[in-house]
Amino acid sequence: NKQIVLAKRPVGWPDESCFRLEQCPEPACGPQDVVVEAVWLSLDPYLRGRMNEGPSYAPGFALDRPMVSRVVGRVLESQNARFRKGDWVWGFLPWALRCLTPRGEGLTLIDPSLGKPSLAISALGMPGLTAWVGAIELGNPAPGDTVFISSAAGAVGQLAGQFAKRAGARVVGSVGSDDKVAYVLERCGFDAAFNYKTRSVDEALAELCPKGIDVYFDNVGGSTLEAALRHANIMARFPVCGMISAYNETEDRGIRGLQALLSKRIQMTGFIIYDHIHKLPAYQARVAPWFRDGEMHFHEDIVQGLEQAPTALIGMMKGEAIGKRLVQVAAE
Ligand code: NDP
Repeated sequence: NKQIVLAKRPVGWPDESCFRLEQCPEPACGPQDVVVEAVWLSLDPYLRGRMNEGPSYAPGFALDRPMVSRVVGRVLESQNARFRKGDWVWGFLPWALRCLTPRGEGLTLIDPSLGKPSLAISALGMPGLTAWVGAIELGNPAPGDTVFISSAAGAVGQLAGQFAKRAGARVVGSVGSDDKVAYVLERCGFDAAFNYKTRSVDEALAELCPKGIDVYFDNVGGSTLEAALRHANIMARFPVCGMISAYNETEDRGIRGLQALLSKRIQMTGFIIYDHIHKLPAYQARVAPWFRDGEMHFHEDIVQGLEQAPTALIGMMKGEAIGKRLVQVAAE
């Protein structure tokens, strides 16, 4: 068996030396236990916060212990009546080929009728519900509203835009490459998009949001948030999902222009998806048919091999993935 552990805490951007691939014992299944073979690991921006000492919104990883994220896998062996060999499950599991889950705690069975198993940690899991809560429940877009989404080609962004479109909004995205511009326009049905690395965000918003911004779905914070504040309409909603531009910074650069919250009566609401997790079954039941029937599009960017997970995580934060980045550890 093999696993990837946190070898060193990063300062600023992590590199591969922060991780170590090592041999580990084969799990031994005791009474009530379940052994899971990992098939897909989810790579998420919040994992960067967990590599720091002390808690962010989830506790920090221990040094020399395995990295943990949402994992979809297959039951290899079970002494627990709730799980049978061959069942698809997901849970917060170590980055290892095989692992023991004592008493099967924390494992959730995946309903195969909802779609392919990896969707449990992508479109039908946490990133999907995050997009729904932010774009629809907090953004509350009315038909004709302009919704601006940053990191629009990412796991959350691609769905947030499509949910807002279904609600009748005009959807504009910012992304970090021309391929991503093409992706959100051609595959996700955005009305407009721009590459923030080659264009001034202010100029792009002036051109592409001529009636101003009614909802800004913030995935990145920083100067993009500052520009959105300048282009916001009175009574705009700003669901704050993430601020990835700051995750690898060593100093807090602050946000300028917050007076706009007052003068424009903007409702800026931070949210963490754990507080909404009870909504997951209803969300899955509502949206699974949209993916099954091809009404909505979702791209998974899959990297092969457990040993590639560290490089794939760093690459995801640097913007190299389109859609939801997963690592495939074993054949489906
Ligand atoms: P993404 O798939 O969007 O991947 C991260 C992307 O961030 C990269 O592809 C890159 O895209 C973009 N990015 C990186 N650095 C910068 C920068 N300096 N400025 C602008 N964009 C940058 O990740 P997710 O969809 O999983 O997550 C999106 C956001 O949502 C993150 O901030 C994450 O922390 C947050 N989140 C919050 C949750 C909550 O409960 N509140 C739950 C899930 C996610 P590009 O090429 O466009 O630059």
